[in-house]
Amino acid sequence: MSESTRLRIAIQKSGRLSKESLKLLKSCGVKFNINEQRLIAHADNMPIDLLRVRDDDIPGLVMDGVVDLGIIGENVLEEEQIERQTLGTPAECIKLRELDFGACRLSLAVPNEFSYQDARSLEGLRIATSYPNILRRYMQSKGITYNDCMLKGSVEVAPRAGLADGICDLVSTGATLEANGLYETEVIYESMACIIQSTNTQPDDKQALINKILSRINAVVRAKESKYILLHAPTETLEQIVALLPGAENPTVLPLNDDSNRVAIHAVSTEDLFWDTMEELTQLGATSILVMPIEKMMG
Ligand code: ATP
Ligand code: MG
Repeated sequence: MSESTRLRIAIQKSGRLSKESLKLLKSCGVKFNINEQRLIAHADNMPIDLLRVRDDDIPGLVMDGVVDLGIIGENVLEEEQIERQTLGTPAECIKLRELDFGACRLSLAVPNEFSYQDARSLEGLRIATSYPNILRRYMQSKGITYNDCMLKGSVEVAPRAGLADGICDLVSTGATLEANGLYETEVIYESMACIIQSTNTQPDDKQALINKILSRINAVVRAKESKYILLHAPTETLEQIVALLPGAENPTVLPLNDDSNRVAIHAVSTEDLFWDTMEELTQLGATSILVMPIEKMMG
């Protein structure tokens, strides 16, 4: 593959998505040497270049076909898509899949002393946000008119600073809202990180590499969501024990040396095994219960 056909992937340079994005690519077997000063990092073992940029730039870079893949919060993607549709500039990209990090929600919030009934309580008021397009779409759908206060950062301090009556901002735990004397009133958009591809038709070898990365991502995410479970079970409670293992299909049942009343069970569970289930298993006579992480899972 020549230099010009190297696969280009954009990820956030520094912020909430950067560490997880890099970790994901590394777990797919892509080896990078990151130089903090450099915008581009070349993979050592695959024809892949990594572009490390502000997250706001990623959707546009993919939609303009400047890069082939991007890892981005759905909130930023949605905001850019509405913006570009309004302007009539290219707004297309392919969402390959949601990822398992970057969970947050875009919510309306008002000061604690504000008596809020529903979104109509904001009629004619000023709302501070970094997401004017998603906010406008929501308010239009409710038929509410309001005034924008566009802020790129520190949105949560806008009401106290007298810049706005309420805010529309990203929330994950709600701690920032609470610390600023605000409460969440309405979730208007739920978001996760996702991986997107440009709609450009790719040369076969490049598309094959995209497919390979995607299939590895699927394997890594599936493995993270699954656990390998080993335990010893009395034969008489075997059925009940198997029924308790969450999402486990056809577990392996093996005899134990010198013990015909007990068997060993090996199972892959597609969910986490919670303490409550572990305790129920013990009550059914299960012993030596081991729950282990799975690194990769294919097929
Ligand atoms: P950049 O400098 O790249 O523009 P940023 O300040 O815009 O960074 P971050 O705060 O790093 O962005 O957030 C990046 C993304 O992380 C958000 O767009 C969102 O998808 C996700 N995210 C998850 N939880 C939160 C949260 N509690 N607050 C903000 N963003 C969150
Ligand atoms: Mg940003």
